[in-house]
Amino acid sequence: MSAARTLSVRMCIGCRERGSPEGLLRVVLDAGAVSPDPQATRPGRGAWLHPGCLEVAERRKAFTRALRATAAPDLTVLREFVERMHTSEAP
Ligand SMILES: [Zn+2]
Repeated sequence: MSAARTLSVRMCIGCRERGSPEGLLRVVLDAGAVSPDPQATRPGRGAWLHPGCLEVAERRKAFTRALRATAAPDLTVLREFVERMHTSEAP
């Protein structure tokens, strides 16, 4: 019997869909701001998000909950990062 352990499956805090880590961006809480962690190497509590699910996650206050923030964290840095990702995807 093989108990399949899917440790690499992550859940997006925006749409709450599970997927492989490749499509998801890791974010961490850094001094009251949400900071992107594309290499997934930073210590501390992280959350996973599809870059396109940023708005949904914000509306749901998913960052506050997922990162155990005491107040709504600042999303400026993350938003700029995601915008740059979209820009570099353009032809
Ligand atoms: Zn998502």
